[in-house]
Amino acid sequence: MATETTQATATLTANFARINDQIKQAANANKRDPSHIKLLAVSKTKPVSDIVVAYAFGHRDFGENYVQEAVEKIQQMSSYSDILWHFVGPLQSNKSKLIAEYFDWMHSLDRIKIAKRLNEQRSAHQSPLNVCVQVNIDDEQSKAGIAPSEVINFIEQLQPLSRIKCRGLMTIPKADVSDTERRASFAKMQDLFSQCAQRFDNIDTLSMGMSDDLAIAIEYGSTMVRVGTALFGKRD
Ligand SMILES: *Cc1c(COP(=O)(O)O)cnc(C)c1O
Repeated sequence: MATETTQATATLTANFARINDQIKQAANANKRDPSHIKLLAVSKTKPVSDIVVAYAFGHRDFGENYVQEAVEKIQQMSSYSDILWHFVGPLQSNKSKLIAEYFDWMHSLDRIKIAKRLNEQRSAHQSPLNVCVQVNIDDEQSKAGIAPSEVINFIEQLQPLSRIKCRGLMTIPKADVSDTERRASFAKMQDLFSQCAQRFDNIDTLSMGMSDDLAIAIEYGSTMVRVGTALFGKRD
């Protein structure tokens, strides 16, 4: 048992080192400063013990998808007070209070109604909740996110909400496409992001790229890659 645990720890640590390395290489290849690209470790479905290993390795930003599961983990790890918790999953409005209470970041904002609720529910004792607006960049029927043409107007409406701070954009592009198509989607995001950054204060985050396309995302200006499988292994 002890040997298995040691083995798992070694694998996880090696994965973090490898992905950090990939990020550096992709940054260098595109003449970008690697320190401007954050790795968000998406730990959904994975045990707290994995997060503890990543923490010991020096990692501090973790992403979760399921509110209930996330809150349990956050409570179990309350003594790790410098972890930043990011919510990246779809959100039902009746769960917004838990997001406002427990998270530092919310990447999947796509409704004003939810923005207003989060703004009301975020305590004055906490710093404002960082949010990214989710963009449905490939105009997929089934996907969350707002249309690219509505992004500026949407962020405009967030400006009066002082308990949330809009930091930028997030996208989950269409699955199973060619690299050429992926590049076209990421290029559109990069352009939209730069329009937002010119127009609004505090815009510094383009949350884009996952296990399979993080290098391409970095080529198109991603400042935060959300990586699950390549760090923690396959999910059940
Ligand atoms: C699960 C998830 C990820 C991580 O995906 P991998 O392919 O496992 O790296 C990133 N972003 C979101 C929104 C996710 O739900």
